[in-house]
Amino acid sequence: MKTIGIFGGTFNPIHYGHLRMAQELAVGLNIDSIRFIPSANPPHKSTHNISASHRATMVDLAIANNPLFHLDDQELKRTGHSYTIDTLQNLRNELGHEVSIILLMGSDAFTQFDTWHRWQEIITLCHIAMVQRPQTSKIEPSRKLSPILENFLHNHYTETSDDLHTSPAGHITMRQITALDISSTAIRDAFEHSNSARYLMPDSVIDYIQTHQLYK
Ligand code: ATP
Ligand code: MG
Repeated sequence: MKTIGIFGGTFNPIHYGHLRMAQELAVGLNIDSIRFIPSANPPHKSTHNISASHRATMVDLAIANNPLFHLDDQELKRTGHSYTIDTLQNLRNELGHEVSIILLMGSDAFTQFDTWHRWQEIITLCHIAMVQRPQTSKIEPSRKLSPILENFLHNHYTETSDDLHTSPAGHITMRQITALDISSTAIRDAFEHSNSARYLMPDSVIDYIQTHQLYK
């Protein structure tokens, strides 16, 4: 079955933690292509006055020479909050039900997953591949999984990547990747204090931020 990875985030800005995670999951899970989907109006988060269009352009620059990666700006075209469930429903309308869709996320996102709009329906439309994110202790103290999410994880868990290729949705897997303790929060902070963000993210994105005077 054809396999599409979906990677949502605010990407404010995109960095090597995002890119490496998507690359390692693409190879490790044998995913045919990955769509980066910037959240236009994230329901739980500030975008620090950086427009969705700037954030999407930075993603576009960052993934430019990777044939596995694509920008999907569908959330920029909708009004109101950007809900993953709506995005998945659109993808199903576009791709049909004979395609495997894998939602990629870090552990910090998964610990909050039960606050997402209609979260229990999401697993009927896609699989989830989760990676452990390094403890960005200063920024986001690590949270334990709630009993509800423990149970949810247990009910859908698989270690077999074949399961993600033989069914369109319904499984959760966890993968080990190279731990990169990089966050957009720390990068925004670096720009605010005129510190260098070199080697944390692509030069093309750094140039774009400087040209447009973002994160000042
Ligand atoms: P912020 O600090 O603004 O929250 P962020 O670096 O956490 O930014 P997001 O856009 O919030 O980036 O994250 C989008 C997705 O990417 C989430 O699922 C998150 O867990 C994952 N992710 C972000 N950074 C990393 C990283 N360094 N390693 C693995 N996964 C990451
Ligand atoms: Mg985050």
